[in-house]
Amino acid sequence: MRKIAFGYSTRCNVQCEHCVATDSIADNIKMDLTQAKEIIADMAAAQIRGISFTAGEPLLYVDDLSELIGLCRQHGIYTRVVTSGFWAKTPDLADRYVPVLKEHGLSQLRISFSRWHQKNIPRENIRNAAQCCKKHGLDYFISFVTDFSSEDDALEEYLRESKLRFFPEPVIFSGRAQSFDRPVLRTDYQANRCPMNPYLAPNLDLYGCCDAGSHFTKTNFFRLGNIQESSIEQLLRQSEANPLYNYIRTMGISTLASFAGFRARDIIQYRKCELCEELFNSLDRLKMLQQEVDSGLAAWAR
Ligand code: SF4
Ligand code: SF4
Repeated sequence: MRKIAFGYSTRCNVQCEHCVATDSIADNIKMDLTQAKEIIADMAAAQIRGISFTAGEPLLYVDDLSELIGLCRQHGIYTRVVTSGFWAKTPDLADRYVPVLKEHGLSQLRISFSRWHQKNIPRENIRNAAQCCKKHGLDYFISFVTDFSSEDDALEEYLRESKLRFFPEPVIFSGRAQSFDRPVLRTDYQANRCPMNPYLAPNLDLYGCCDAGSHFTKTNFFRLGNIQESSIEQLLRQSEANPLYNYIRTMGISTLASFAGFRARDIIQYRKCELCEELFNSLDRLKMLQQEVDSGLAAWAR
């Protein structure tokens, strides 16, 4: 199923120090609403069946978002909104948002939560937002962003005690989090496959991956093009036909790194997106991998 992360605007009303969506200087780009509607119609025609409204804080534009969600519903597109929960300071305030979103057909609310968000958004907001979703029958989950340090134990406990549905998610050391200390990982050797959902930025550039992909500035490896110059269908086909992207999806980044000469004991010390960046944000390494697509890499399978 084709899915996409839709960046309506990069604007946010807080500045989390771990934010991957914006760099240190927020640029506050926003799409034109009429244009966004046309894009959604094009996405429906391109058989996109899931849209996640993300990047910046989408609910700063709750009226626009409601219209876009309603349009998605008309096209049979599943919708998700990723939000910080800034709007849910009290249960009454939460009630001003959730029923409206539900009425327009929102499929799911994803509420971000972490110790970095906590410096701007109190944890009570997260509980109010989640409980309001339960009350109105709107599907939700909490994305608990963590670097797996013990500093996050109390937050995880809070979510459990509040009986909220949450899924831990690794912080991505990109964007503002690039300078963070990385706690040492203790995991097994992971395949590090990545499903790679494309991301549409507010300036209408389409990227092959939704998270750190727009930060690969040396090679622009994940930039597919701009939807004013090529159709969404063309760009998605380009992504689906790209052999290296397909190796990321199927072979996994660890195997690609091993092929490229990384030692196994080094590979296990990288986070997935970091390893991806090491591999694909280097012109020389990318050139080598591209040359090996049909030969060495094709044979590098068990
Ligand atoms: S709330 Fe989300 S988009 Fe806004 S600064 Fe924090 S991480 Fe970034
Ligand atoms: S692993 Fe690579 S393709 Fe996947 S989200 Fe991270 S940067 Fe994007």
